[in-house]
Amino acid sequence: MPIAGIAAAVDASLPLAERLFAELRAKTHDGVGITRQSYGAGEQVGFDLAAAAARDLGLETKTDYAGNLYMTLAGRDREGHGVIVGSHMDSVPSAGNYDGAAGVVAGLVAVATLKQAGIQPARDISVMAIRGEEDDWFGITHIGSRAALGLLPPAELDSAKRVDTGRTLAEHMQDLGCDVAALRATKRFLDPKRIAAYFELHIEQGPVLEHDRIPVGVVTGIRGNVRSHKARCIGAYAHSGAVPRRMRHDAVLATVDYAAALESEWDRVEAAGGDLVLTFGKLFTDTSLHSLSKVPGEVSFTIDARSQDTRVLDRMEARIRSEADRIAEARGVTFALEPILRVKPAIMDADLQRRLHAGCGELGIKTMAIPSGAGHDAADFANAGVRTAMIFVRNPNGSHNPAEHMEMADFALGTRLLAWALAETA
Ligand SMILES: [Zn+2]
Repeated sequence: MPIAGIAAAVDASLPLAERLFAELRAKTHDGVGITRQSYGAGEQVGFDLAAAAARDLGLETKTDYAGNLYMTLAGRDREGHGVIVGSHMDSVPSAGNYDGAAGVVAGLVAVATLKQAGIQPARDISVMAIRGEEDDWFGITHIGSRAALGLLPPAELDSAKRVDTGRTLAEHMQDLGCDVAALRATKRFLDPKRIAAYFELHIEQGPVLEHDRIPVGVVTGIRGNVRSHKARCIGAYAHSGAVPRRMRHDAVLATVDYAAALESEWDRVEAAGGDLVLTFGKLFTDTSLHSLSKVPGEVSFTIDARSQDTRVLDRMEARIRSEADRIAEARGVTFALEPILRVKPAIMDADLQRRLHAGCGELGIKTMAIPSGAGHDAADFANAGVRTAMIFVRNPNGSHNPAEHMEMADFALGTRLLAWALAETA
């Protein structure tokens, strides 16, 4: 399909996108922002709107055991799962309209574009609306994508309870007619080996594209992490005037020392051109015991180190332990860091990244390579061995908040790139 044809055909389908976004906003607004509960009413609104739009477009629809929805443009060869364009329909409470939903709407517009151009792809292209990506509702992430790939541990069906209802994931799934028995048997709906490629368009959740004035990013990888959720430094409370320095076990100074030591590892990685972000999101003394005139005896804190590079995470985890030992020895304190938990990074397919950059060149879209700091369903597909790519669209106000924003002009550019990639890949 000629390049000018793609741009014009995507633009011709933009009213569909605008209508879907407007209906989604109107039907899931909670007075402050957008709320789409995983396996609940808000998410279902998105599924119903997407399914109706797919039927209007003449796409085949089907659902899997976990209730994910596939809206398929049939290819000439119907073997395998073909190309999947996925994204989630749930949201965190009082969020913006585009986190997740933009990917499903972009998929529908891109497929509509191919259909209207009379292109029958070589393989099926399925737009996949995914359930339960956000962990705010059940305390676990990526329920739909893991379940589709047969990677959801059955125990989570009963142990995960929704925060607003107290009912189990299995019960909420049953309400929606999901096949819980198949999930208990870890039956997978998607065989990764039979998926030709997975694409996901998503708003950027950080400020990089906006800062650099670039509308569309090609994602290099999704950062994994090494974390300590309930770290503590334990020293000894003492009188702040009476106890000399050599006899102190000051938990605050030890923790500050520790944070600086870990930041020095960040300096080292950054100087070598590596990828790392490090955050101590919580750091506090015990309000019932602390006082201006006490040497602090205990500090609680969290560590969240993220990188696309497993070696960087390995090295960071080693420093997290070794610096704790060193500072504990030097300052007469102890660190309790366990459990230290890891999530693997997910690398986007190098060939698909190259193609997306080439597509931006052909379509005249200004772009850049960008890591994803947040998790996405794409990580589950990539780590299952599927060739996976992500397109980010500029978003000036961050996400997981009602101020999240996306210009339709930027959405159109991201969707042109997606349609171009589908025409190339499928
Ligand atoms: Zn999202």
